[in-house]
Amino acid sequence: MTTAAEPTVVPPVPMLDINRQNGPLLAEMERAIAEIGRTGAFLHGPASKAFEEALAKYSHVEHAIGCASGSDALLLSLMALDIGAGDEVIVPSFTFFATASAVWRLGAKPVFADLIPETFNIDPADVARKVTKRTKAIIPVHLFGQCADMDGLRAAAPDVPIIEDAAQAIGAEYRGQKAGSMGLLGCLSFYPTKNLGGWGDGGLITTNDATLAAKLRVLRDHGQNPRYHHSLVGVCSRLDSIQAAVLHVKLAHLDDWAAGREQNARRYAAQFARLGIDRQLGLPEVAEGCATVWNQFTIRVPGGRRDALQHYLSERKIGSAIYYPIPLHLQKCFEALGCQRGSLPESERAAEEVLSLPIFPEMTREEQDRVIGALAEFCGVAGGSAKRAA
Ligand SMILES: *Cc1c(COP(=O)(O)O)cnc(C)c1O
Repeated sequence: MTTAAEPTVVPPVPMLDINRQNGPLLAEMERAIAEIGRTGAFLHGPASKAFEEALAKYSHVEHAIGCASGSDALLLSLMALDIGAGDEVIVPSFTFFATASAVWRLGAKPVFADLIPETFNIDPADVARKVTKRTKAIIPVHLFGQCADMDGLRAAAPDVPIIEDAAQAIGAEYRGQKAGSMGLLGCLSFYPTKNLGGWGDGGLITTNDATLAAKLRVLRDHGQNPRYHHSLVGVCSRLDSIQAAVLHVKLAHLDDWAAGREQNARRYAAQFARLGIDRQLGLPEVAEGCATVWNQFTIRVPGGRRDALQHYLSERKIGSAIYYPIPLHLQKCFEALGCQRGSLPESERAAEEVLSLPIFPEMTREEQDRVIGALAEFCGVAGGSAKRAA
């Protein structure tokens, strides 16, 4: 193979390198963690409270309730709305598993809606078709960092509460409003690969509803209030102080990192256009009124060539990822719902075409040039923007 014979050793271009982000902040985060060790306030301590307050301010909401993960944020949100057996919740099919599994775990029925091809986000027109008397909530996902069509969803189902799955979209805006501040409830994840990533698992729920906020604080703590008095059957789901302290340090840099992602996205778009391969690659579109935070930069490779492109990149040690290879309505565990192949054509097509490219803010220009150059070569354009090896 020609690649193996190349004389120069090229370092890999990672899909994401979280160490580059954590590195410069290590000393500050270690100090914050040591303080928690000294005080012993590991759970429900001042660090968690301080982070919740900072996050509420950042996301322009009244209340922020930390919990153990983004998946738990979704589960707790549905529990707070008393959703269970006999209820339906409309969710996108083209999303991470947790969006639908939270519904399923409570005995309610996830009803899958198709997506808008330009944004990959849930299609309000399909939501309107799927609303029934049993619909108790809609969970739009702000996929890849871009907000779903919130106005369209409100118009499609004016009386149905919206739980935003903002796990990929902290800081994103829709008509000037922050992700997580528009629905009745918003769910965030601090999984290490998210735009605000912790040193382990973490999640949080945002809301402007004081009653729901109080209920969520009880639900995340076994449903007890006061201690050993259980008014509800809650769960054990806390954002521990160490995660909160790490996240609080990182929150101060979140907007700068988003700006770095934006710059990388603009550069991809400009270079692909210059090389004339922007149409071949199906570049991501930013909808009117949206400010995306680019959790992913996801292109479309039609004509069954997506897997070949990913292989081509990996041969050149360039990272990429497929989010998501199987839409949820076709997952084995949801077989009992009886969804057929062909029922959500845009979700199924997206699963075959998408490929996410490295976009993390710390990636270097040289690394991005390697990605651009490899894509140009794959598309048959000689002399891509990257300097060729020889
Ligand atoms: C990551 C993610 C979640 C789950 O978050 P965890 O913290 O990993 O539990 C939920 N929904 C979406 C869309 C996600 O990307």
